[in-house]
Amino acid sequence: MTSAVASLIWVSGIVAWCVIRYPYQRRARKFRISAHKRSLEERLLLSGATMGLVIVPALWLLTGFPESLNTTFHPVLATLGAVCMVAFLWLFQAVHRQLGRNWSITLEIREDHALVTEGLFKHIRHPMYSSFWLWATAQAMLLPNWLAGFAGLVSVAALYFGRVAREEAMMRETFGPQYDAYMNRTKRIVPWIM
Ligand code: SAH
Repeated sequence: MTSAVASLIWVSGIVAWCVIRYPYQRRARKFRISAHKRSLEERLLLSGATMGLVIVPALWLLTGFPESLNTTFHPVLATLGAVCMVAFLWLFQAVHRQLGRNWSITLEIREDHALVTEGLFKHIRHPMYSSFWLWATAQAMLLPNWLAGFAGLVSVAALYFGRVAREEAMMRETFGPQYDAYMNRTKRIVPWIM
């Protein structure tokens, strides 16, 4: 594993992410929204995630900026990063498949929204956010630059901690005791742990 190969793996991850998401994003337009919790905070968190996971690392790859924050490349660490990237992509497409028409990029409830509690959702309530943590971890291991590498983890932490409680409150408002019971028997992002 060389630094160039690691960068290529990161770029391939971004391309695969777009390919997986695009059909769901297109299809989502067809399903009407019955309630939402869109806000300025939500928009800032989503823009922050795009900055940290895509723009900042892409800028470093294209221009080398900020060169002073470059670190030593570790092939073993980068190989682990590649494994995390594959795990992210697998999980990401599986969650999309299982959430189906209930998926939204932001906090929205669709008409005829169904609460998904099986498959990946059987033990954790937020497998898509688990996948984002894997993606950001992959980035930190693949890109040997403090800013480009860690911008993803910082922005995913902001998105996750800034959103998860609001999302759960929205789901409780919509599904009531059904979601309370679901919360009681599940964890958030790591089965049986957290
Ligand atoms: N937090 C989930 C989903 C992310 S997509 C995860 O990490 O996998 C965000 C949208 O998914 C929310 O707006 C909400 O409407 C919907 N959602 C979240 N949990 C859901 C569930 N268990 N069943 C159906 N829809 C859900």
